Amino acid sequence: MKINVSKIPEGGMVLQFERDGEWFRRNLPGATPPDFVPDRIDIACTAWRMKENVFIEGTVATAVDVPCCRCLEMIRLPLRSSFKYTFTPPPSRSQDEVELNAADLDFAYYEGDVIDLDTVILEQILLQIPIKLLCAESCRGLCLHCGINLNKTSCNCRGEVLDERLAVLKQFKGQP
Ligand SMILES: [Zn+2]
Ligand SMILES: [Zn+2]
Repeated sequence: MKINVSKIPEGGMVLQFERDGEWFRRNLPGATPPDFVPDRIDIACTAWRMKENVFIEGTVATAVDVPCCRCLEMIRLPLRSSFKYTFTPPPSRSQDEVELNAADLDFAYYEGDVIDLDTVILEQILLQIPIKLLCAESCRGLCLHCGINLNKTSCNCRGEVLDERLAVLKQFKGQP
């Protein structure tokens, strides 16, 4: 979604639009695709302007299916985040040193009368995804041996692993 700065009316304007998972995948920075794709993404925001500075405030809401980091079952995770951004034109040469300090996350430059909100939306979604997600605090994960989901069923591997260790130990102790 692109906003023309000069077209933002005096009293501000309200924007509501949506994006889909395909859009997310296409626009992601970086080469490796993530292991999740969001559902429909709803964006609602207000933009207003003071001279050349633009303030945008809004919410991004969607849901993603993310794998549990222990058992790999997909978990549906609703996401909702509020954002607040200040956009200004890039600084002129003489202002460089002062402006560099303002490198906050919620501060960005726009060029040539156009603000691209897509970057903001991508960023908001990425920030919300937890690095490690568990389907439940008590998730038992997958058996390291046979790969079975231990939340759903059990296997006999555990005993075997122990036995192997024991065997190694016996062997070790048996050495002269
Ligand atoms: Zn799990
Ligand atoms: Zn097993």
